[in-house]
Amino acid sequence: MLIDPFGRPITYLRISITDRCNLRCVYCMPDGAAGWIPSQKVLSDDEIVRVASAAAGLGLTSIRLTGGEPLVRPGVVALVGRLAAIAGIKDISLTTNAIQLARLAHPLAQAGLRRVNISLDTLDRDKFRQITRLGNFDEVWQGILAAEQAGLRPLKLNTVVVGGFNDDELPSLARLTIEHAWHVRFIELMPVGSSDTWPDGNLAPTPHRYYPIQQIHQKLCDLDLEPTVVPSGNGPARSYRIPGALGTVGFISPLGEHFCEKCNRLRLTADGRLRSCLLKAGEVDLKPALQSDAELEPLFQAAIQLKPIGHMLSGEAKQSSPNSAMSQIGG
Ligand code: SAM
Ligand code: SF4
Repeated sequence: MLIDPFGRPITYLRISITDRCNLRCVYCMPDGAAGWIPSQKVLSDDEIVRVASAAAGLGLTSIRLTGGEPLVRPGVVALVGRLAAIAGIKDISLTTNAIQLARLAHPLAQAGLRRVNISLDTLDRDKFRQITRLGNFDEVWQGILAAEQAGLRPLKLNTVVVGGFNDDELPSLARLTIEHAWHVRFIELMPVGSSDTWPDGNLAPTPHRYYPIQQIHQKLCDLDLEPTVVPSGNGPARSYRIPGALGTVGFISPLGEHFCEKCNRLRLTADGRLRSCLLKAGEVDLKPALQSDAELEPLFQAAIQLKPIGHMLSGEAKQSSPNSAMSQIGG
């Protein structure tokens, strides 16, 4: 098993399988497009499978596919099938904007995908278009229903809370869990990339949009939330339930109440760099080893040596942060 210098077992690999996306969410791609990685530099399916096999050999058991938007990668279903066949990998999940999920949920489930996290910041069609710049809310809603029908569970919905934009919708989003066995998680906005300078007219810069977790809790105080646990919940959310609800409500506070002491993850960027922390620079490039027959295991060992004890960002979304967009690192 891989243990980092601070004694944390590393069991979870997040793989960005593309930096491309069919949306342009303002907090993720503040400049509208992130400056794509040239396609010849993006890892091939064979290279991703080789990295995942090496990870499994070192005791990692969970893989999450992310991006960019993982569902825009050609051949994603076949790739999931190959990853699911790796001995030792017990859990394959995917984070998606769900734009293409209505079409892909069943084939993905058949290929071995176990569960999905779906991003959903608003229930208002116009606001959805505004925050994603390109998105169609109805496609996402159909994608959520298709994921449920395909048995991709637990089904988690991720809402990034943007002050003055969707904080008024937190109770409505939380109430979705009353009738649906969904897990709605509210996430603090993170200062990633150049997101302190959103260019869009009526969306002000990030520091004014940061909405701390305590205020998120306050918005929901009428719902009488009770602490609970979520199945397959090895993630960073604190979970609650509206009394009698089928689903749960979670809170993820990477800044205010960060969860670094329990961090069990490594990230692989779309161009083959192993990254030890989302919010702190420090990467090991696997590409040269992938282009030869060199061993990958020592490079995993080198990457976990770079893992910081914590990201050192505090409750104000103003600190120094990596100068890459979320879509490039793999959120
Ligand atoms: N395209 C997929 C999606 O949107 O779910 C996967 C990639 S996206 C980068 C992964 C997650 O990162 C999404 O839930 C998104 O809302 C979140 N995210 C992106 N930029 C963020 C930011 N600045 N602060 C907090 N979360 C962010
Ligand atoms: Fe695309 Fe996801 Fe980033 Fe939105 S958050 S732009 S859907 S990668």
